[in-house]
Amino acid sequence: MNHFRNHHLGCSSQEMPPLPLLLDCNDFNLNNYGEIEIEQHEQKEQGEQQEQRILSWQYENHDSLDDIKKFYLKMLLKVREGHVLPGNVMKTMALSITCLLEIFSYHLLSKLHMNIDNAISNNFNNDVEKTLFEISKSEDSFISSCQIYFTFVKPKEIILPTGNKAYYIPLCDLLMNLFEKKDFYDSIKQEKELISQFHEQDIIYHYRNAEIGRQHHILNNKKNSLLLQLYSDDLGVVNPLMGKNAVHKLTTFYFSLDDLPSRHSSSLRVVYLLLLYYKKDFEDQNNRRILFEQLGQDLRTHELGGFTRTFTTGYFCRYCFTHHHDMKHIYKESQTLIRTAESHDIQLKHVENVPSDKSMYGINEASALSFISSFHPITSLPPDLMHDAMEGKTMEKYCLFLNLPFMLFNIVDKIPYWFLYELLREIWDMLYCDFPRKSWLSTLQELIEEFIQLFQTIFPDQFTPKFHYLLHAARNTAKYGPLKRQMNLRYEAKHHLLKQIANRCNNFINLPYTISKRIQLRQCYELIDENVFKLNNVSGKIHTRRKITVNQLIQKALLDDNQFIYGDIVEFVKWVLIDNVKYKVGDFFVAYLLGGEEIPLFVKIKFIIHIVKQWRFIVQCYDTITFRQNLWCYEINPSNNNCILSKNEFLTHKAEDCYHINNSYFIRAPYRLTVIE
Ligand SMILES: [Zn+2]
Ligand SMILES: [Zn+2]
Repeated sequence: MNHFRNHHLGCSSQEMPPLPLLLDCNDFNLNNYGEIEIEQHEQKEQGEQQEQRILSWQYENHDSLDDIKKFYLKMLLKVREGHVLPGNVMKTMALSITCLLEIFSYHLLSKLHMNIDNAISNNFNNDVEKTLFEISKSEDSFISSCQIYFTFVKPKEIILPTGNKAYYIPLCDLLMNLFEKKDFYDSIKQEKELISQFHEQDIIYHYRNAEIGRQHHILNNKKNSLLLQLYSDDLGVVNPLMGKNAVHKLTTFYFSLDDLPSRHSSSLRVVYLLLLYYKKDFEDQNNRRILFEQLGQDLRTHELGGFTRTFTTGYFCRYCFTHHHDMKHIYKESQTLIRTAESHDIQLKHVENVPSDKSMYGINEASALSFISSFHPITSLPPDLMHDAMEGKTMEKYCLFLNLPFMLFNIVDKIPYWFLYELLREIWDMLYCDFPRKSWLSTLQELIEEFIQLFQTIFPDQFTPKFHYLLHAARNTAKYGPLKRQMNLRYEAKHHLLKQIANRCNNFINLPYTISKRIQLRQCYELIDENVFKLNNVSGKIHTRRKITVNQLIQKALLDDNQFIYGDIVEFVKWVLIDNVKYKVGDFFVAYLLGGEEIPLFVKIKFIIHIVKQWRFIVQCYDTITFRQNLWCYEINPSNNNCILSKNEFLTHKAEDCYHINNSYFIRAPYRLTVIE
């Protein structure tokens, strides 16, 4: 039996599992999305668990059919939604399980030397069969059962005059369900406390610490305010029977919570579908009004701000008034006229009176969101760094961008204009930082202007609006906080899931319905358990070792640990997941920043030790020899120093790849690191 070890603090293993959990296999609660490895569980503990189970059965005082029904529903959710399978898989499962139960009962009865025509057994089997088929008979019966037993938020249908339908996930219902999860609530509470520590500091940690957030009357006056981030993207689905001409174009709206810790930001579980409709329905003004009246969250980012969407003509930038004719010559932000809330409102009034002047300012119409009192298109639309910098398969391009020097290792010095790459990496390291500083911004602006001027000169034809937007990045960091938090990267995984569902469902009659329903079923599955972020304190199998049998250096590190005194037997694991960060033996992290230049010192995890429900990491320190500018990485060397750390002492939250090339070790810092006061 495969099993995950779940280290709940304060939960003794001697305790009896509560009855409703009786039928849960332990591995059933955990997801199957490839986030974690499975390790073989110890034989001994299995025996103990079986004993507990038998004991628990004696307490049976609840409806057994109800239990089975709930378990079966959960299983269907896991199989169907976890693996994105077509709905008719339910019928196959109901049939197979009934057959299995019958044959099981037959053999069980004969082993017990009982009559195989036992009436109790037959009746029970029939009842189970009826229950399973009742749930599985149709999509509607399945969904209504999910509504009874779990929290299923039904997509709300919006019927448009053109006959098409759009689907909206009621925001409040969804938020209510999320906040019922203790870990979700706690994460937001903790993060908001952390954000408040950076108030008026040099580090701009969050939108709330940045210029716009500090001036925002709701964020300032309502202590319990929540900051939501909206994101929109298009989805093309090809009907395989109709060929390339039959592409169904949909528009999706998602939201995420800006007040969640950024360590969760790449998880599928923190991005939620809000609205889904056929893209062409948006063209009709009447439709637009209906979508917009009901939801108020219906336009794509550029349209959200009410600015013209064409990038090829006229005024294309939502931050300044630069005409595209001048784009390739402007390389200083001081050469541009920045849009402000005041200038926008005046021009909007003018455009309403004289519509022919629209193109003069690049403003179309009042933003569809302007009815939300706290929303202004200039101050509320944060820039999307990734979207502005690179479109399409964002993650792949991003990895390519970072790994380029290692791929070109031998020829890097022969590549013309390679200094442009170095310059862009230097800019990137500041923009991608979790803790950017106000004091960096003037340097950042100089670097950006230098880069833009060089790029305009060397590659004039490649200079697109995306590069122009970079010109505003330093100002935007001061205004909106770390641009990393506004990137569409976090939405990419969810968007990919929608694509997967759309392509597999083979039902092109009402795609928005099919997709939104499946997404909500998936959501239902994700909210079944007590916690949203369930994979906390999960580790590989615990090995024990006598202290005297381990390496002398390790023994010394244990002895030097002034937090704990280790007994003769020490418990080790190969990996552990804490606060959504995976630590594995062999992984590299940054553990120190040296001197005023804040040079990172890297460590390699040698052992992960479990003691008194805490984790200690024995790490090998590496010396930082030099910064290799052309590779944009550090050259490091293993030292004989080992030391012992707690998880709070790591300064990075994702393991770094270390490259061993020509007998040297190379590693990069994920972004510019800084000591947090
Ligand atoms: Zn896009
Ligand atoms: Zn601009």
